Amino acid sequence: MKKAFIKSYGCQMNVYDSGRMADVVAEQGYAETGSADDADLVILNTCHIRERAAEKVYSELGRLRELKAERAEAGQETTIVVAGCVAQAEGREIIRRAPAVDVVVGPGSYHRLPDLVREAQAARKGVDAEFDQFEKFATLPRPSASRIRSRGVSAFVTVQEGCDKFCSFCVVPYTRGAELSRPASAILDEARALLEAGVREITVIGQNVNAYHGDGPDGRVWSLARLVRTLAEMPGLARIRYTTSHPRDMADDLIAAHAELPALMPYLHLPVQAGADRVLKAMNRRHTADEYRRLIERIRSSRPDIALSSDFIVGFPGETDGEFEDTLRLAAEIGFAASFSFKYSPRPGTPAADNTDQVPEAVKDERLQRLQAQLEADRQAFNGGTVGRVLYVLIEKPGRHPGQLNGKTPYLQQVQVTGAAAQPGDVVSVRITGTAPNSLFAEVAESAGNAAPLVAAA
Ligand code: SAM
Ligand code: SF4
Repeated sequence: MKKAFIKSYGCQMNVYDSGRMADVVAEQGYAETGSADDADLVILNTCHIRERAAEKVYSELGRLRELKAERAEAGQETTIVVAGCVAQAEGREIIRRAPAVDVVVGPGSYHRLPDLVREAQAARKGVDAEFDQFEKFATLPRPSASRIRSRGVSAFVTVQEGCDKFCSFCVVPYTRGAELSRPASAILDEARALLEAGVREITVIGQNVNAYHGDGPDGRVWSLARLVRTLAEMPGLARIRYTTSHPRDMADDLIAAHAELPALMPYLHLPVQAGADRVLKAMNRRHTADEYRRLIERIRSSRPDIALSSDFIVGFPGETDGEFEDTLRLAAEIGFAASFSFKYSPRPGTPAADNTDQVPEAVKDERLQRLQAQLEADRQAFNGGTVGRVLYVLIEKPGRHPGQLNGKTPYLQQVQVTGAAAQPGDVVSVRITGTAPNSLFAEVAESAGNAAPLVAAA
């Protein structure tokens, strides 16, 4: 049997796409392998969001060139595919820089992989960077129940792709194209198949997921809240999440859903990027710091225990020391449970990259260190605050040590549970006993005591 190795870089959208690419090539007789060494087909599903992410791909391609030559000497053919956002942004330039690459395919056209691979194997290099999202989703094969099960009890479903926001630092509107929402019925069908195969948690994803506005089966346009409400009622579903949201699209019905739907987990990733109004305006985020604060207040009054997370960029062109302090202050006020923070990376073709007021690297380094130290302290404080509490955990897989099980709390914290006679997919009630740097420890709870259960066990 032929083997395919798929390596995913970057965001959850890419993780989802890599799974769908595995489904596409499985139909062509490729079994997935965990290493490039024995692969007949290697797919790098790439990320272009920051310079470092894109450069990683070229160093990986250097290693693959040697591997391809070694395998050729042993009479084995290797087809190398570059997919994802670097493929979209750089197209044929990739084959010029890395001639070992056979196929370059963007995020909008990977359903055509079989033809592209066949053509490449007939010695014609292929580049496909069209956006055919409707055709893509309509023609992608349905994975079998056993393939779904092999990926675990928690699954992503892409509901929206692309972005029309054009934040001045960001390549996504160029690499992922215009915003497009999948029809609700196609999403519900995909979710049904996942749940029937044993998936218990669905995270609906999109670059701008709360801008979702897909055609509903009733002939109306559905909002994300409407979609989430419908998914939450599907048999077998224990938990639902959505990511990534933009503050501008946090509609009232979505905020209300957090109060009303027990299956909707109390966790929200809502990137703010910066805390100074001038910077937010230059970033084209289209909200002020105070508008963000007020939005968080509304969300917290709907779901008081909600855990919030954010993305931050430090060293955006022209950012002063005082403006950076505004970011520190905003972060401290909100108290995020988790965060991702980055140094601004100029991306070719984006408006901010042409700004002549770039912040020196050393200043960016220092700001990032300070911000990360503060965000890490907030994360640890949030985790520490759950010690002693009784929470429901979705069991995902066996733990590191015998007798341990690995799962997630409603707040997306990784937790090692002892004393549970449970299977992946079960929701168990546990008492949190301690914290480690990246996870929590817990024991099965004797009783929930007077702690209100966060999520009804399904
Ligand atoms: N759509 C999401 C939003 O609006 O917040 C984020 C999408 S992006 C894939 C993830 C994060 O990467 C962004 O929130 C931002 O913090 C970061 N990012 C994007 N472009 C960047 C750049 N040029 N330099 C540094 N970080 C960047
Ligand atoms: Fe990029 Fe802004 Fe769109 Fe998010 S909203 S994907 S940061 S352009």
